[in-house]
Amino acid sequence: MKSDGEIARAARLKPIAEVAARLGLGPDDLDPYGRHIAKIEDEALARAGAAERGKLVLVTAINPTPAGEGKTTTTIGLGDALNRIGRKAVICLREPSLGPCFGQKGGAAGGGYAQVVPMERINLHFTGDFHAISAAHNLVAAMVDNHLYWGNALDLDLRRITWRRVVDMNDRALRDVVLSLGGPKNGFPRQSGFDITVASEVMAAFCLAQDLADLEARLSRMVVGYRRDRSAVTVADLGAAGAMAALLRDAFRPNLVQTLEGNPALVHGGPFANIAHGCNSVAATRAALGFGDIVVTEAGFGADLGAEKFLDIKCRKAGLAPDCAVVVATVRALKMHGGVARSDLDRENLTALEAGLANLGRHVANLAKFGLPVIVAVNRFTSDTAAEFALVRDVCRERFGVEAVSCSHWADGSAGAVGLAEAVSAVLDENRPSAFRTLYPDEMPLADKVATVAREIYGAGEVIWDERARADLVQFEAAGFGRLPVCIAKTQYSFSANPALTGAPSGHALPVREVRLSAGAGFVVVLCGEINTMPGLPRHPAAEHIGVDAAGQIVGLS
Ligand code: ADP
Ligand code: MG
Repeated sequence: MKSDGEIARAARLKPIAEVAARLGLGPDDLDPYGRHIAKIEDEALARAGAAERGKLVLVTAINPTPAGEGKTTTTIGLGDALNRIGRKAVICLREPSLGPCFGQKGGAAGGGYAQVVPMERINLHFTGDFHAISAAHNLVAAMVDNHLYWGNALDLDLRRITWRRVVDMNDRALRDVVLSLGGPKNGFPRQSGFDITVASEVMAAFCLAQDLADLEARLSRMVVGYRRDRSAVTVADLGAAGAMAALLRDAFRPNLVQTLEGNPALVHGGPFANIAHGCNSVAATRAALGFGDIVVTEAGFGADLGAEKFLDIKCRKAGLAPDCAVVVATVRALKMHGGVARSDLDRENLTALEAGLANLGRHVANLAKFGLPVIVAVNRFTSDTAAEFALVRDVCRERFGVEAVSCSHWADGSAGAVGLAEAVSAVLDENRPSAFRTLYPDEMPLADKVATVAREIYGAGEVIWDERARADLVQFEAAGFGRLPVCIAKTQYSFSANPALTGAPSGHALPVREVRLSAGAGFVVVLCGEINTMPGLPRHPAAEHIGVDAAGQIVGLS
């Protein structure tokens, strides 16, 4: 099998106007960024919004393991396969971040014969959206310190400034820094730090905003810090929202690219799935629902984090009603959930597989609580055996009451996911009105929202509150933020807050360490355990193998 980069480079890309034409978009509807990427103009977006009619399919997964699950790959493979069987499907994905690209995970444009292209450009600077988001975020940071320098008329408490700086890179050296060293002309020294751009609240708000005016309103509401009396100082108080919106104006329009098979994909926005909601922009999803008959989109991490937030935050706030969920699982990852070591994954092991299926079963049952029909996609690896797939299929059918479909889009492109596409089409063609419901109502108190997710989704027995966090929640409610959804940040590896508890643990305690208000994004972040908003690089980062060859081609990105 060729590398992702080799496959992507061998692809013959269509001019982007040709891809756009399939969506009913003419030349005036596009702002091309070269020959193979375009942003979609506002007027076309408005038209799409008015015409919204597509069905929405969410691709999510079991809890991730180091063995890999392949949500992005499956989202692309399913989108291609739906087009192959004659459906007008549009794919919606997050934009990759440079941090993971050069770190451990590598790129995020799919893999094998299920990729979006041009993959090097999508994975690296693309249309500059993340740079624009970093600039908008850091403009506020510069204005905060400038405000202190010129006398601090807003009376910000230097010790309670919550707005940090961001950079789209894994750089642990920047987690905690001291600013304004070097004497009086450089301002007032204070401790702060950097987060990765995908953890910026600007990113989350960007992805949840309905339009530019809504984006600016969200930016205005963002809290940068507190006064000594604990009252909040916002971006609006600093007068920064207009300039931020100006920086973000072009970025806010969704990016159109194509799959290896020439089908349309919107790749736009990319918030973290722990301290934020982890899915592409509402603007892109809305546009895709106007352009296509079926929209296939991905949520980050496993369904306990990604799907729960997609449904309880994004769909609730944007008024979207998904029609079907696809849960991606691999035999390898299920075996890891069943206790097999990574080094033994190539050997058939039906006992461990059956034990590991508990993880899948819990996710399937959880998604039913949102009223969604579920299909399991078994993303096939070459080491899988026929007996292993048969066991997954039988357990899914008999115990979980859902269909499991084996797919090989990674190796075979759309031809490998026709079965999955047919299963999804069959569900959509029943034309049932979406029975989607959120897990909790807006008016439920914040602490009860956390307890509901902990109990219903994580299988937890109790929530253990840090006293301070509990008091902060009461304060958020008093300040009028009680109707916001909660965004729980915990490890992606387990239903619990302990990454070592694989499978489907029950009765565990969810420890809440801290809560933070994301007033602009529109949710309350609930931190359970250590959550790193600035990842580090591994001992041998992927960057060591990335380069440019004699022909000027980028190599080593996967
Ligand atoms: P996710 O979106 O769940 O993080 P991706 O779709 O990005 O996962 O896939 C992660 C990695 O696993 C990619 O490098 C991809 O090429 C690889 N991968 C996905 N599916 C398969 C498969 N069936 N066989 C081998 N490698 C795969
Ligand atoms: Mg992905």
